[in-house]
Amino acid sequence: MSTRRVFLKCLGGLGACLLPWTGWPDIFASSLQPTQASLKDLRSKPSTINSNQETVNSFQNRTAMDDILVLTQPALEGRRAGTLGEEKTANYLVNQLRGLNLEPLGDSIENQQRNYSHAFTIYPVVEEFVNGRLTFRQGNSNSLRTPSANIIGGLMGINSNESVILSAHYDHLGIFAGNLYPGANDNASGVGCILDVMRRLIRKGLKPKLNVVLAFWSAEEMGFVGSFSFVQNPTIPLGGIKAVFNVDSVGNGPLGEFALWANSNNYAVQAIQTAVAKNKASAVLTPNRGFNSDQVYFNLAHVPAVTLMARNWLDKNHTPEDISSFVEPQKIALASDILYETVNKLAF
Ligand SMILES: [Zn+2]
Repeated sequence: MSTRRVFLKCLGGLGACLLPWTGWPDIFASSLQPTQASLKDLRSKPSTINSNQETVNSFQNRTAMDDILVLTQPALEGRRAGTLGEEKTANYLVNQLRGLNLEPLGDSIENQQRNYSHAFTIYPVVEEFVNGRLTFRQGNSNSLRTPSANIIGGLMGINSNESVILSAHYDHLGIFAGNLYPGANDNASGVGCILDVMRRLIRKGLKPKLNVVLAFWSAEEMGFVGSFSFVQNPTIPLGGIKAVFNVDSVGNGPLGEFALWANSNNYAVQAIQTAVAKNKASAVLTPNRGFNSDQVYFNLAHVPAVTLMARNWLDKNHTPEDISSFVEPQKIALASDILYETVNKLAF
């Protein structure tokens, strides 16, 4: 979750550009490493099915808490955009998408080969505390920009011109003044939640009617820079996006008490409200009070988009206390149930 500031005004000049990407270092991947080749082998060589099936199952049966425990470990350094911690996290996410055999929907590179990363650049930022929360404001815009990337993959549908997007930002604040900001609720909880929904949809074993796209945004904490860059430079046509369901900080507060952020009672809001009611939860379309999340630029581009969040999201937000034991698995599971039903109804 990031504070809306003058920063937003400056984003208009921040063009997303394609950079030669150096490839993610292979950390966290060694024990979880099916290759596209091994997944192809699964289809072509029955004799190897058992061992490969185990590898496929190991990806499909992970849980949201598995993801949260990885994303919050000190080695990922608080996942600040533009740092090695972000790169390690992106590497982990790419491995999950590859292990689930999702279609890469990032930038095209040579020979029409696509990868999972959607590259953009960020301006330097300056840290400041507002009401005890660490936040970023824009730094010197004449300084060199730093590479960053969204990570995007999809379960392709029969009608591949239309998509439903499940999204969550994977970046957080990093390490500041000697303190690690692990960002378990903000927003490892959202990352784990949408991966969980996708794993459940894949376990159905059916091809959807519409594409179901997983998008992990970066640099949200710097002013929604990753999702803004996607809207500016989309890798799937914006006009074919039926709805964006963005998930941010869903692991805390009273069970079943959610808030929704959106520009209006749009199609995405209405779709999620139906599933909220079925799950005997409540989700109130709430004034942002100066805060925002990654639905904002989709709304400005007239794409139906909504952010689902815990109504109590501000508790421990942007403090070093937002640790993995702070988030509660049953709250993320309820958000997962709501999103699973929503996407199942729209896309299958
Ligand atoms: Zn935040």
